Amino acid sequence: MAQRDTTPNFSALAIPHDPLADFQAKMNEILSQANAQLQQTEHHPPQSPPLPPPSETEPPPTTCQGRTPVPNTSWYGWPDCCICTPCFTSFAANTPLVPLMPLQNQFEPSPTVCDMYSPRQRERYLAASATGNVDELLAASRERSAVYTETVAVILEREAEREAMVARAEIMRVSAGNNALIDAYSGMESLGDEEREEWRTDAGGVYSSWNGVVAEREGEEADALWVAAVEGGDGGEEVARLEARWAGVE
Ligand SMILES: [Zn+2]
Repeated sequence: MAQRDTTPNFSALAIPHDPLADFQAKMNEILSQANAQLQQTEHHPPQSPPLPPPSETEPPPTTCQGRTPVPNTSWYGWPDCCICTPCFTSFAANTPLVPLMPLQNQFEPSPTVCDMYSPRQRERYLAASATGNVDELLAASRERSAVYTETVAVILEREAEREAMVARAEIMRVSAGNNALIDAYSGMESLGDEEREEWRTDAGGVYSSWNGVVAEREGEEADALWVAAVEGGDGGEEVARLEARWAGVE
C-alpha cells in the first residue's frame, strides 16, 4: 500500500459548513456547461452550421444585406442577376423588365447574394429597362459575380475561419479550467506519494492527476488558436488588395 502524504483530508474534518461541498458543486456546474459546449461543437461546428428547414427560418430581411450571402429566402430577377425582395420592392418592381424575370419570389435555400444594391448595377438595370434588352446586364453581372468569388467570398471565408478559431479557443479555455479544477480537487484528496510522483514523472510537471496534464495541453492549444486568429488579423495587405479589386466592379 502506498504511503499517504500530508495533504489534509478535508472530508474528514468535522466542520459545520463543508467548503469542499461548495467546491464540488461549483465544479459540477462548470463541468456540465463545458460538456454542453463541447457537445454543441461536435454536432454543430461553427464553420458549417446546418440550415434549418424553411418552416423554421426567420422572416426574410427587410433591408438589402448587400454583399452578405442570405440563405433561405426568395429572389426576383435572373439566376445570373438576383434581386432581393427589398431591392425589388423599392427599385425594380415598377419597371418593364419585371415580366422578363424568370425568378418571381423564387425560394432559394442556399446562400445567395443580391446583385442589385450597388449604384453601378442599378445603372445597368435602368439602361436595360430603357431598351428592353437584358443581355448586357446579365453579362456584366456574370463578370461581377466571378470577381466576387475571387474577392469578397475569400474575405468572408477568412472571417469565418477566424471566428471559428476564436470560438474553439474559448471552448479549450473552459475545458482547461475544468481540468485544472479537477486536478486541484484531486490534490486535496489524499493521493499516495507514489501515485503523485508518477504524474509528475509522466507529465514533466507537478500535477495531481491526468487532468492537470490535459489542462496544460488545452491551455496551450487555446493560446495557439488565439495567437493564430489574432496574427491572421484582418488579412492586412491581401484583404486590402481584394477589397480594392471588388470596389472596381461592385
Ligand atoms: Zn438587394
